[in-house]
Amino acid sequence: MADPYYIENCPGRGRGVFANKTYSPGDYILSFTGKQTPIHEITDFTHFLQIAPDIFLSPSGKADDYVNHSCDPNCAVYFESDGPVLRAITTIAPDQEFSFDYGTIMFSEPTMFQCECGSPNCRGLIGNFYSLPEELRKKYQTENMVPLLSRYSLEEIQAAQNEEGC
Ligand SMILES: [Zn+2]
Repeated sequence: MADPYYIENCPGRGRGVFANKTYSPGDYILSFTGKQTPIHEITDFTHFLQIAPDIFLSPSGKADDYVNHSCDPNCAVYFESDGPVLRAITTIAPDQEFSFDYGTIMFSEPTMFQCECGSPNCRGLIGNFYSLPEELRKKYQTENMVPLLSRYSLEEIQAAQNEEGC
């Protein structure tokens, strides 16, 4: 059987991950792997995924590193018993690119970068959860699309950051 997804270059946006079959909302796509890394050991957060107030998963070198951001995502990240996973939130057709909103997983990263997602409601910049419009923060939380907040409070996340002196 063919792989359920493939990695390909997207002009101007590095690599992306694309469906090789049809996915329905809720379908499992892939797991985020990598090594648990304390926040104070990280200087470049590229492809790191925050899994606790003071812990990130390092890049794995696999497809989970290359799922791009979109301001109009078709996937979301959930923390499940075996770790973080990517699931479809809409129907995804073969050859469509997977995407999730990086604003739902970034808390302790100060970085803002240019968004090239091209969706009609593109925010122009990719930033952390605090940079999202309030309405969108509420929508994502209501839809359980902010995995860190399914386990920790904002206060706990911020307290860990303050201890690191960020
Ligand atoms: Zn965008």
